[in-house]
Amino acid sequence: MKEKNTEKNAEKDDRMEKIVSLCKRRGFIFQGSEIYGGLSGIYDFGPRGVELLNNLKREWWNTHVYQKENYYGLDAGMFKHPRVWDASGHTSGFSDPLAECKKCNTRIRVDKVLNSINVFADEKMSEKELNELFDANRDKIKCEKCGAKDFSSVRKFNLLVKSNLGDFTSSSSDPVYLPGEACQGIYLDYKNIVDSLQPKVPFGVAQIGKAFRNEISPRNFLFRVREM
Ligand SMILES: [Zn+2]
Repeated sequence: MKEKNTEKNAEKDDRMEKIVSLCKRRGFIFQGSEIYGGLSGIYDFGPRGVELLNNLKREWWNTHVYQKENYYGLDAGMFKHPRVWDASGHTSGFSDPLAECKKCNTRIRVDKVLNSINVFADEKMSEKELNELFDANRDKIKCEKCGAKDFSSVRKFNLLVKSNLGDFTSSSSDPVYLPGEACQGIYLDYKNIVDSLQPKVPFGVAQIGKAFRNEISPRNFLFRVREM
């Protein structure tokens, strides 16, 4: 069974490698900072990739802003007041519960692994709750890479990317984060849009923007990245 899984994974890896290499050869997607060894989880859209991306954005904007009645566009600043991410629950709840294989250092998403053996768990549970569930089921959980059953305890890692914007004293207790999702500006500017354009309720607001996640193990090409 283990051999079969390893074979399947190797086939998947091989197919992914072919896709990555084709995207590079044809000028669609390059590894970010490649000449300095690359920065994990960051990609550059090449001359063809950016055209594809711009076409998609244009089409999306056309469908969701121009062709819909009572929809408005917005381009909010990426940096926001630190309290925005407290209010949205991201500073306390935007985290992945992880455990690490002590043999090969592969990290696993504990909630997903528990779900896969029919134990209910989710990322909102406390570290203590997750550790109790994990400990009770350790004998059923194997490292998918090396097959060992020797994991560290569960720790929750916050996914917001911190910056030092406006921090000139290095004693600031409120870090300014890069956006964890692109939609916060829509909520923050709700009243400004109502006051300036007097839309009829309900109305829609659309924004295209970047989001950042402090992903601990970026993988699967564009499917698990740090900047998206
Ligand atoms: Zn392992």
